[in-house]
Order: sequence, then C-alpha cells, then structure tokens
Amino acid sequence: MEIEVTKPVQCPFCGHQTEIVVDTSTPADDLTVDCERCCRPFEVKLACSPGKVLQVEVDPG
Ligand SMILES: [Zn+2]
Repeated sequence: MEIEVTKPVQCPFCGHQTEIVVDTSTPADDLTVDCERCCRPFEVKLACSPGKVLQVEVDPG
C-alpha cells in the first residue's frame, strides 16, 4: 500500500492547480502550501486513512 498519495489542490487566490504529497499515515493534518504562481501561502486541511485521502479542504487562512 502506498502511504504517500499525490492530490491536486487549487489555490484559493489565483485558481492555479498544484499537487501535494500527502502522508496518509497521519489521520488529520494541516499543511501550508505556497502557490507556485502567486506565491501566497494557503492552508490545506486533510483527513486520511492509511493509503487514502478522505477529505481535502482548502482554507485561505
Ligand atoms: Zn495562487
């Protein structure tokens, strides 16, 4: 089973789509992602079970 899963997320400021690598061994995690295009940081809230991402929520903070 792959514990690391790649997920697409969309920047809430400019709409640019980027991919994040999620460690699904952590049930709930908050990541801060810097947008490659507009360079603004945003928060991604994740809910996971091992090998699977259950929920991805983008929060502009
Ligand atoms: Zn952006």
